[in-house]
Amino acid sequence: MTLRKSHHEPLISFQTYRAIQDRLLGKARAPARKNLNADFPLRGAVACGHCGTPLTACWTKGKYLRYPYYLCPKRGCESCGKSIRRATIEGEFETLLHQLRPAPALFRVARATFEDLWNHRLATAETTRSGLETELVKIEHDVEQFLDRIAQAQLPSVITAYENRIRQLEERKIEISEKITNCGRPLRSFDEALRTSLDFLANPWNLWASERLEHKKAVLKLAFANRLAYVRDEGFRTPGLALPFKVLAEMGSSKSKLARSTGFEPVTPAFGGQYSIHLSYERAGSGS
Ligand SMILES: [Zn+2]
Repeated sequence: MTLRKSHHEPLISFQTYRAIQDRLLGKARAPARKNLNADFPLRGAVACGHCGTPLTACWTKGKYLRYPYYLCPKRGCESCGKSIRRATIEGEFETLLHQLRPAPALFRVARATFEDLWNHRLATAETTRSGLETELVKIEHDVEQFLDRIAQAQLPSVITAYENRIRQLEERKIEISEKITNCGRPLRSFDEALRTSLDFLANPWNLWASERLEHKKAVLKLAFANRLAYVRDEGFRTPGLALPFKVLAEMGSSKSKLARSTGFEPVTPAFGGQYSIHLSYERAGSGS
């Protein structure tokens, strides 16, 4: 098989092709643990309300079926080993998410921040592109050199080795060319990407409902300042809420003034003087 960059719109990108090859060769085997994580998205993100140890999770074998549970693993804790039904804790978590509503000013600040980030990324893309072009030139030079060496080589084994090296370089070349092509064009449009982010702000539950584990993890990371605490038969302790965009935590004094006047409340200095912002989400309704 020979490799060359096709002039047709490719069905899959070369990068994807490589990923598939790696998968087939067993290089990128997903760890067995991943499945368990997918079964228990709250694992590691929720702590025992009594002792603060992160809850662990497992499937317990019943007579006919297996049942999913979360539980505190800490020996000596009064909750230790007492199982919490997955449906219960995750149901209560969803209720909690439904109660989160963004403060109105959050949208404005988020949009502005998002725009800054976006522009910064476009600028970075230009730098990346020129870096890749330099690498491409170097690879072409290397290929030339190996071709020269092949011409002078006598031993078949040496020739084969050079040929393999050239083949690797050619693969790298295709990969780079593809990256260069994609460099200028963001995978999604600004509006589309912004909408996704704002959708999350408007209702983080939407993201939690996603099939993808990384979306669920994102909700946990972005919406809550600390690990949530849960007490069996009682429910979640009042969570510390975080602002979804970490960048906002580095806001300058002018913006923090705005934040203060519009309902953000800086929390000092419990987090090492870092500027973390609470109350960007408010709990709506009276439930729980
Ligand atoms: Zn405990």
